[in-house]
Amino acid sequence: MNFLQLNDNQLIKQANYLNGRWQVSNKFITVSNPANGVELGTIPVIDKLALEQTITAAQEAFDTYSKTNSYKRSEWLLKWYDLILSAQDDLAKILTQEQGKPLAEAKGEILYAASFIKWFAEQINADYGLTLNSPVDNKQFHTHKQAIGVAALITPWNFPAAMITRKAAAALAAGCSIIIKPSELTPFTAIALVELAHRAGFQKGVINLVTGNAPMIGDALCHDQRVKKLSFTGSTPVGQKLFAQSATSLKRLSLELGGNAPFIIFADADLDAAVDALMISKFRNNGQTCVAANRIYVDQNLQQAFLTKLKAKLPSLTVGNGMDKNVQLGPLINQAAVDKVHDLVASAISAGAKLEYQADLNESNSPFFPVTLLVDITPNMPIAQKEIFGPVLAVQWFDEETEVITRANSTDAGLAAYFFSDNIHRCQRVAGALDYGMIGINDGMVSNAVSPFGGIKQSGLGREGGHTGLAEYQYIKAHCYGQLS
Ligand code: NAP
Repeated sequence: MNFLQLNDNQLIKQANYLNGRWQVSNKFITVSNPANGVELGTIPVIDKLALEQTITAAQEAFDTYSKTNSYKRSEWLLKWYDLILSAQDDLAKILTQEQGKPLAEAKGEILYAASFIKWFAEQINADYGLTLNSPVDNKQFHTHKQAIGVAALITPWNFPAAMITRKAAAALAAGCSIIIKPSELTPFTAIALVELAHRAGFQKGVINLVTGNAPMIGDALCHDQRVKKLSFTGSTPVGQKLFAQSATSLKRLSLELGGNAPFIIFADADLDAAVDALMISKFRNNGQTCVAANRIYVDQNLQQAFLTKLKAKLPSLTVGNGMDKNVQLGPLINQAAVDKVHDLVASAISAGAKLEYQADLNESNSPFFPVTLLVDITPNMPIAQKEIFGPVLAVQWFDEETEVITRANSTDAGLAAYFFSDNIHRCQRVAGALDYGMIGINDGMVSNAVSPFGGIKQSGLGREGGHTGLAEYQYIKAHCYGQLS
């Protein structure tokens, strides 16, 4: 174990958490720091038998946990929340060292992750069934909400803490037991969170964490009838595969998949505010977010003013190891990610895009990518059709509102979209016309525990967080009382 500067080294386990115990295995995967390649530790490769036993343990735990009252579940969650806040410095250091994002941003993610736990701990005690007005004199109809069962949670590397708690807090509040499968690239943040949940006192088997061969684990979880729910955050191709694999068990699914967010700046926008928001939307986590501004559309008439304001901000973005206080942009997750972004930029330039700005970067052959600004992007270029997932601004110009809405909607993705305008009529019109699950209107940051997060089209199914987040882990049972008079 090679994490630096932790106060509590017991947060790191090179083990899986199965039925209330940390368990090692004789097969393992090595996890490295993307900023410098330093080996951080190893995690187990779970085998089929141990996974099967974990599902059994989660099922047994569900039978008792789901019957605990909501106030008790809320107390466990709030205890977990307090422990996370107390350990926030250590958690942020673990996150930065395995994922790469700068320490201040990692701390922001830990607080964001914790906010879901508090939100659902409070939501569950205000969650009710209904007494329905009966149209029949001697009958009464009631609805009850019940926990759906064992829930499998598969999460990506770009938000190693928040993508877990956004699911786990809702599932645990609703009364589900859970099996977490974090990305093999960033498992130690998940392990530390689960260690804190263990300390919070959740009963054995309620929370489980497995690592290893993702396709094997995904296949087993999808096909097992005892797993009633699968919540996945990750790429669209893997989401489609899990959807197909879940057909035989008819599992309830939440799929939070890839985006291709348009960011539109109209001529009547507050340009300073728009450029500030674009910087946040684009450069959070070095561009590696599903809601990052991917296709930037700017009114033709703003070209010069926009480029002047934007280019004034770019040189201050320092790239480097996220543990260094002066760094704003960490590494990309690995060399394959760098190569992908490099190819998107190269193909755009060869198809006619103009390289308006590119930062100098000393490190060659490293997972860092220079801040890049491309203009004159056209819709047919791969960079306009795929998630860039890197610090590259790809700008298109437009003339008309209707034209830009058509261009913004012409993608299979439908996660987040943003636009800036100071005209209230346009704001209402454009917000209604954009085919996306989340719309930032004069705002570049749409995520918050109180607001439903999720997409349409190929960006997935279901909503996380918000007032509907619990329902993803519940089913509604109708009770009909007859012979009442
Ligand atoms: P990914 O390759 O799809 O992986 C996501 C998770 O799925 C990881 O835990 C991965 O495990 C696992 N996995 C991979 N293949 C699997 C399989 N055949 N069966 C079961 N699990 C499998 O995605 P990623 O590269 O980690 O994440 C980036 C993507 O996530 C982007 O497309 C981004 O837009 C999307 N994302 C969406 C949201 C949202 O809320 N909509 C939020 C964040 C990210 P291993 O890593 O161990 O292989």
